[in-house]
Amino acid sequence: MKAEKMIPVRKNDYIELHIDGLTHEGMGVGKHEGFTIFVKDALPQEQVKVKIILVKKNFAVGRLLEIIKESEHRVEPSCTIFQQCGGCQLQHLSYEEQLKQKQQQVADNMKRIAGLDLEKVMIHPTLGMENPWRYRNKAQVPIGEQEGGLVGGFYKQGTHEIIEMKECLIQHEQNDQAVQKVKEIAYRLGLRAYQEEGHQGLLRHVVIKYGFSSGEVMIVLVTNGDEIPRQEELVQGIREEFPQLKSLVQNINTKKTNVIFGAETKVLWGEEYIYDSIGDIQFAISARSFYQVNPVQTKVLYDKALDYADLTGNEIVIDAYCGIGTISLFLAQKAKKVLGVEIVPEAIADAKRNAKLNGIENVEFAVGEAEKVIPWWKAQGLAPDVIVVDPPRKGCDIALLETMIEMKPQRIVYVSCNPSTLARDLKVLEQGGFETKEIQPVDMFPHTSHVECCSLLVRKG
Ligand code: SAH
Repeated sequence: MKAEKMIPVRKNDYIELHIDGLTHEGMGVGKHEGFTIFVKDALPQEQVKVKIILVKKNFAVGRLLEIIKESEHRVEPSCTIFQQCGGCQLQHLSYEEQLKQKQQQVADNMKRIAGLDLEKVMIHPTLGMENPWRYRNKAQVPIGEQEGGLVGGFYKQGTHEIIEMKECLIQHEQNDQAVQKVKEIAYRLGLRAYQEEGHQGLLRHVVIKYGFSSGEVMIVLVTNGDEIPRQEELVQGIREEFPQLKSLVQNINTKKTNVIFGAETKVLWGEEYIYDSIGDIQFAISARSFYQVNPVQTKVLYDKALDYADLTGNEIVIDAYCGIGTISLFLAQKAKKVLGVEIVPEAIADAKRNAKLNGIENVEFAVGEAEKVIPWWKAQGLAPDVIVVDPPRKGCDIALLETMIEMKPQRIVYVSCNPSTLARDLKVLEQGGFETKEIQPVDMFPHTSHVECCSLLVRKG
């Protein structure tokens, strides 16, 4: 039997540590006598003093007490509530270095988990934004009360107390202003905010959606109940403030839940949808529909997917985990036929509507689990030239990977929001006869620790 490895730290110990890397969650990580220590707010290349606050079998967590040697890439966070909010994790790191760290994180995963030879696989520098601020097109803000007004912002970490947020630097200004105005108007009319305790009050969340290319605005009021007192005045007040308003919607959520939306949605004024475009494709966006939150970088990512798919117009393409069909519609412009599959029926309804809206006829969408629908397609004799996958964080189901291998497409384009499950799945595909050629990290969420990747695999031999 192997002797238990000694754990070299105990709770409440004070140690000095060199930080070598960043985790997927944006925490600094270093080794103390070979034992892994995670430290929030510490950056690579820093020498820090920490107090150990948690010890587990394979790692410990330290609280940063002092930076003994500071990283040359450390910067003052632009946002004054960076520490409390937790929505961004990397504002204390220069943007240029954020992009490098994200590329490094992808490379580390590919080496460690996928066992790829980095001499042969190109892991490109992360494609970042020219202006990495104010990029979000959607705000979802919980509303509470304090003396003299309504508050809207975010929940204080570990509590349900709402901290007021006047502006969010990664949110479009228009959305920040809209939230402030709606709060003011609602307060003026005596609307009460929802109180979790006692399950009372009306206004739970304000959700704003903004079409970057169309300039259209949707405001959604999520309410704990059907009836809005002084509804006409509220609608009138909001309309007067927002000439760009296209859609004002009420969503009713009377459940005791953290989930934002309830089942029923009513149009209070204007249209049910707003529209926006990414590249040449137009999308209809309703209160509940999913839409990428950073349209500028979405275009960058999907252009790369299209580039890797290398379509000539004769190909049959599968788009697995297709959501509202964003990638499918992009690909359809260059392919013979695209088949999209997605588990959420409402997303497929949106995908079909979007296909029609753009007059795209060479796409078909199916509702179901990719790992069930695609094997069924295979049994029907479908032989795709290219398969594109864009799974959620947990990656692809093994049954799907096996089917992909058996279908022997020329190319696989794997879009991923989690480099570790991407690496795990690439390993399976490599063993199944595919070769990873290149991986392009794209920064969809600047100042957060998220990184998105587009990867190209081709069939060997
Ligand atoms: N490419 C999409 C977004 C993909 S996000 C777009 O740009 O719009 C991942 C999607 O996978 C989500 O829409 C989620 O509902 C869906 N999903 C999750 N598990 C699935 C499964 N087993 N089979 C098919 N789709 C699934």
